[in-house]
Amino acid sequence: MEQEAAPSRVVCPECGRSKGLGYCGDCLVVLQDGCPSLPPLPVKVDIVLHGETSTRSTALHAALLAPAQVRVFRHDAGSSRRRCDPLDLQLPDWDAATTAVLFPEGPNTPAVGSSSCPPFQTLVVLESSWRKAKGLLAHPQLARLPRVQLPPEACGGSEFTWRRGDGSFRGSVEGGMSSIEAIQRCCRLLDPSHDFDALLHWFRRTKRLVDARGPLPTSRQEARARQRQKREHQPMLEEREQSAQGQQEQQQQPAQEQQWQPAQQ
Ligand SMILES: [Zn+2]
Repeated sequence: MEQEAAPSRVVCPECGRSKGLGYCGDCLVVLQDGCPSLPPLPVKVDIVLHGETSTRSTALHAALLAPAQVRVFRHDAGSSRRRCDPLDLQLPDWDAATTAVLFPEGPNTPAVGSSSCPPFQTLVVLESSWRKAKGLLAHPQLARLPRVQLPPEACGGSEFTWRRGDGSFRGSVEGGMSSIEAIQRCCRLLDPSHDFDALLHWFRRTKRLVDARGPLPTSRQEARARQRQKREHQPMLEEREQSAQGQQEQQQQPAQEQQWQPAQQ
């Protein structure tokens, strides 16, 4: 595969923070390279971010690529790293007859594209860990919506294979995938005349960067790095996300970082 040069960091004109992935996940603006064109999505997509979910969440890529059809709901836009109660989230009063949540509750959850699947015009995608998704689903606006899931044949073959800074490896879950892959596969099932591959633009770009640089730090590691910077009276205190701190973490904790790499044979 063609090796992409790591882009330089760019300061987001909206929030003034330095960003290393070519977009600002806080302000949802593209900072580098623009976006590929995308056919209209077959449904509207509403993304609900758990308060402790990083602004690197891949679901946000859909909002960058299809801003007219994708909305994002999270605690005080831009401050999603705070510890937040998901029940405090301000969510719309969705119509349960036309809205479904993409969440596999069990084998009986209707599969998108199957005859048992309720029709929906809006797909709600939860961006959180599995454990925290339960807390989100208790939100009264979400608890009353039907759930749908991807059929087994649409799972598998995920490209989401990078490790996070804490060594967790979401891509290793059987049938697991990133949120943006789930959105793309869902769109493809609903409108097979398009592959919606362009939805994976930022995802694949991030993957190339991770391959080149190593795992991205977790939010907790980023917070620790900020604390360290504060103690050392360095000026760059604000929300420096992604690779810069990832690299710093790697330099400061080489032994620990070593084991985060994919298993070496
Ligand atoms: Zn910004």
